[in-house]
Amino acid sequence: MKPGMLAHVCCGPDALYAIGVLQQEYDVIGVFHNPNIWPPEEYGRRLEEARKVEKILDFQLIEERYVPEAWFEMTAPLKSEPERGRRCAVCYALRLERTALRALALGLPAFATVMSVSPLKKTDVINRIGSRIARKHGLSFLETDFKKKGGFQKSVELSRRHGLYRQNYCGCLYSRRDSRT
Ligand code: SF4
Repeated sequence: MKPGMLAHVCCGPDALYAIGVLQQEYDVIGVFHNPNIWPPEEYGRRLEEARKVEKILDFQLIEERYVPEAWFEMTAPLKSEPERGRRCAVCYALRLERTALRALALGLPAFATVMSVSPLKKTDVINRIGSRIARKHGLSFLETDFKKKGGFQKSVELSRRHGLYRQNYCGCLYSRRDSRT
């Protein structure tokens, strides 16, 4: 029997590759916790794509409550930061903290995130934050860099093959703003 793992899912394309990799060694449950995504229609669209991946890979995906107000409040002082800057560290921490709490509630000893598929995410920062949160809660965090070994390209090819929507900005209002300038 494979050990259990809770994987934070940020979007369908990243999950399609990374959950597949994790399933080789773990019995994976996914959690969709992304209060950063704006506007709400975009949130709905990304969740829908993640649900398609849930079916394709046959795992359970839990949706946490979508409360963007809390995310806006926490990141308000950092709204002028560029993508990959200090706002992103707060954003990663908020999502991984909730993932850790969900792992505890489910009795799972370990958690991970699929976010490291993206070349736009700072993997070292994600791994440092995830490990710190894990230590705080007595859990294990699986440090990954899914974009390595052609991981990002594989995720692009897989999502194309399955007709998944690929977003053109990271997720928050500010990354949307910056993608249009
Ligand atoms: S750019 Fe992406 S990681 Fe950074 S704050 Fe926005 S949604 Fe979060």
